[in-house]
Amino acid sequence: MKPKIWLSSPHMSGNEQSYIQEAFNANWVAPLGPNVNGFENDIQSYLKEDIHVAALASGTSALHLSLILLGITYGDEVICQSKTFSASANPIIYQGAQPIFVDSENDTWAICPNLLETAIKDRIKKGKKPKAIIAVHLYGMPYKVDEIREVANIYEIPIIEDSAEAFGSKYKNQCCGTFGDFSILSFNGNKIITTSGGGALITKTLSQKHKAVFLATQAKDPSPAYLHSEIGYNYRMSNIIAGIGRGQMTILDSHVTKRRANYNRYKTSLEHIDKISFIAEPENCFSNRWLSCILLDSEATREGLRLALEKENIESRHFWKPMHQQPVFKEAPSYLNGVSDNLFEKGLCLPSGSNLTEEELNRVISAINVYFVG
Ligand SMILES: *Cc1c(COP(=O)(O)O)cnc(C)c1O
Repeated sequence: MKPKIWLSSPHMSGNEQSYIQEAFNANWVAPLGPNVNGFENDIQSYLKEDIHVAALASGTSALHLSLILLGITYGDEVICQSKTFSASANPIIYQGAQPIFVDSENDTWAICPNLLETAIKDRIKKGKKPKAIIAVHLYGMPYKVDEIREVANIYEIPIIEDSAEAFGSKYKNQCCGTFGDFSILSFNGNKIITTSGGGALITKTLSQKHKAVFLATQAKDPSPAYLHSEIGYNYRMSNIIAGIGRGQMTILDSHVTKRRANYNRYKTSLEHIDKISFIAEPENCFSNRWLSCILLDSEATREGLRLALEKENIESRHFWKPMHQQPVFKEAPSYLNGVSDNLFEKGLCLPSGSNLTEEELNRVISAINVYFVG
């Protein structure tokens, strides 16, 4: 058997262990400490906007805290992009709120601004104005930032920007992760940078950050007596994990460059195959190309290719199965146009890691060529 080629595996810089060693030397083995502050500052300077960063245990916990900070509670409605990973939607349920799913458009594969407005109007007509909009940059491609913001502003609904897959991506030269009323990042094992597991909440004000950190550290009131007047969570990032993050921040841009090169390599080597198509990078968008995605002409071709790659010990993956198709969300109201269903049938994610070697890329490309051309 040839060695496994993974979809997207962790890629360390070599600097991580020195930050971890510092934490051990100072005995800062806790969910606070200099690496946590340092990692937050590194992210803040990278994003280059007037924002504040709270390092947390995961992207999911960052989404959960943003719903809590927006006061979303039992019975409220929250709009969520249907084509995404389930972690975007689950925290709505944690709050006892109702997800309302909205389909995508074909330029970016993210939430469709027109359908978003249709959904908002219909929810208002039915008696409840949605309390938030969760919009997701998919596979690193920025969603239609201006159009979504325009709709959100008309109806005065805050945006939670799920930038878990888009750290290093830009829209009109501004970093993804800075467009939401709240934004989130993920540093899970398969993301563009990883801390093994982790995430961040990005806020517009310092007091929102302080509130998030307060809730993330068990909501301890300022008293020596273990006093609590609110429900807390154990969501803070540890100082050891943050050390990995500090090392990873030193190579984020080079990971973006490599992932974009992977994508371009696939495109130039495979676009002659008429059953394969690629999504163009829309004007104003700079994608980190977290995952290299292709569309096949049918579900049968997609599955045939996936299995052929599996035989060569090459991991490829389906696109996210839309949330409106998930058994767990089958009762949720959805506003659909067929786009995400179609993408789910025909889409395939190819090996995309920043640590892919030339030899591995060649193996993937040649396996695909063999499948189509023989
Ligand atoms: C990975 C991911 C998350 C969740 O992040 P975790 O850090 O794994 O909790 C949320 N949304 C999207 C779109 C993701 O891809």
